[in-house]
Amino acid sequence: MKDYAAHVDWIESRHDQMVSLVEHWAAVNSGSYNVTGLNALLDLLIDDFRALGGEMRSITLPTQTVVDSRGEPTEAQLGKALSIVKRRSAPFKVFLGIHYDTVFQADHPFQECSRPAEGRLRGPGVADAKGGLAVMLTALSALERSPWAANIGWEILINPDEEIGSPGSADLLRSAAKRNQLGLLFEPALPGGALVGSRRGSGNFTVVVRGKAAHAGRNPGEGRNAIHLLAEFIVRLNELYTGLPEVTVNVGWIGGGGPANVAPDLCRCRFNVRVTSEADRETFGGNLAALIGELNGRDGFSVRLLGDFARPPKPLDDLTLQALKHIARCGEEIGLSLQWRPSGGAGDGNILAAEGLTTVDSLGVRGEGIHTSEEYLFVDSLTERARLTALFLLKLASGEIRWLEKVTD
Ligand SMILES: [Zn+2]
Repeated sequence: MKDYAAHVDWIESRHDQMVSLVEHWAAVNSGSYNVTGLNALLDLLIDDFRALGGEMRSITLPTQTVVDSRGEPTEAQLGKALSIVKRRSAPFKVFLGIHYDTVFQADHPFQECSRPAEGRLRGPGVADAKGGLAVMLTALSALERSPWAANIGWEILINPDEEIGSPGSADLLRSAAKRNQLGLLFEPALPGGALVGSRRGSGNFTVVVRGKAAHAGRNPGEGRNAIHLLAEFIVRLNELYTGLPEVTVNVGWIGGGGPANVAPDLCRCRFNVRVTSEADRETFGGNLAALIGELNGRDGFSVRLLGDFARPPKPLDDLTLQALKHIARCGEEIGLSLQWRPSGGAGDGNILAAEGLTTVDSLGVRGEGIHTSEEYLFVDSLTERARLTALFLLKLASGEIRWLEKVTD
């Protein structure tokens, strides 16, 4: 066995540095639509990741089409992505990525880090996924310090739009999937520390209903009440997946209308759909299109659907299982007993896997309360998970792990 210990143990000396990086990054609001905040954080990341070497560039993303308060499509500005590529021509190349946006927008009350208890760091995005940024950086630093680094190439993508479905960075992810043999993403581990096996697919949609305004008292027959029709749509939305037990739908937002004595001419809602298989996605998508078509045919109404399934399901296929087994073995060597489980959450791993890149996407920190004001990470998981990924990378680079050579149980 090669001597990896010195390189893996070096990570322990980085503990304080890792904690302060996460605190430093979490202090900058990087809600997905806060472009000013995203740019400020990107400047920090550029400084902090520069030491890895490689070709670094920030990439302007296309805008995202969203529906404005008048029900019209409009373009929303996104932050920039950061790409770093090292040893591009190496025969074996690993893709590593994580997002730097969070679900906490600039006006959200949760903006500061605190220490709710010994060993915990609470703050917006500390687990999802600024802790993962520190894990990725530190694991790669350990690889770069080792004599085996020259044997593998790597490519990093840090994106600003994962929490809104990666509308601007999906194409960058898809093209990276074609150039690399293995994908590692640093989304948080599941509660308790397990890795993610399979992930469900996810789609975000907006429905815009337009009717006709009219005075509710004087000429009630003339109005076409957009809220009434949207209410009917939502009730019937729940009927679209009877017989599809793996499909779930969540209406997350609704808006429209004004004074109670006016039939409203505009109403909108946003909803999310989760599926486990392509077949369910197709069946549900067909049912949805039929319902929209029927309601759109109602006299005096127009009903429009925007959005799509940006993230296909990520099944636990044979190669992903191999990768998880390799990683679990690395875990054993550093005293970690790792399991993997399915997750209802979807992410960029879904996009990479759909392009054929075998991806393990939950190599970030252990934490709890993700997407809530109680989000925290377990501080000791920073070095723990960096050691895990570092050992895996070192073994890939040294040739001890021969990728695609079957792991025997
Ligand atoms: Zn995330």
